[in-house]
Amino acid sequence: MNRLFFTALLALLACLAWAGFDPDTELSSYRGVIELRGSQTWLLDDSGDGLRLLLAPRGLLDSLGLHLAEGDTVAVEGWRKNELFLVGRLWQEADDSNPWLLRNLDEASLQTGGVSDYRVNGGKCIGCKLCVSRCPTGAISVVNRKARIDAELCTECGICIEGYGKFRGCPVGAIEKE
Ligand code: SF4
Ligand code: SF4
Repeated sequence: MNRLFFTALLALLACLAWAGFDPDTELSSYRGVIELRGSQTWLLDDSGDGLRLLLAPRGLLDSLGLHLAEGDTVAVEGWRKNELFLVGRLWQEADDSNPWLLRNLDEASLQTGGVSDYRVNGGKCIGCKLCVSRCPTGAISVVNRKARIDAELCTECGICIEGYGKFRGCPVGAIEKE
């Protein structure tokens, strides 16, 4: 039930979420072995390509029961730009009957760029810049000691709030999701 709920929620969010990743290609699929490099998840495929997977925040992955470990074999479907790969769906091992839906694969949703529900509360932001390097799409900049989010680039991955790896999200809770 929880899984259904979060899947539906993610699909709904994804309808609003696509913003500015600007993939060079349309939907792509890859299969390979997971490699964890620091806080990042990479997929190594047979051709030797290394794809940095843009997944969802760990809290959401946990809620979906998706626990990726080094050496797991997975298949992913989504959108690629150079080595960055924004994951829409993911399958573990040979079971392709029940994928994890992380983002809506309806290509129509790719046209809704410029919309993001993520906002910086200027009253709370202390300008520490921790979020800047952690945003996988470079959507956050700090101007006059306050962070701001470029909706054209934000993919609503949630990392700036929930964190990823050692980064625990904005330390003062200055980033909010409307
Ligand atoms: S991590 Fe939080 S406090 Fe630091 S710059 Fe980003 S929004 Fe501001
Ligand atoms: S880290 Fe925050 S600003 Fe960057 S893409 Fe994810 S939700 Fe958007």
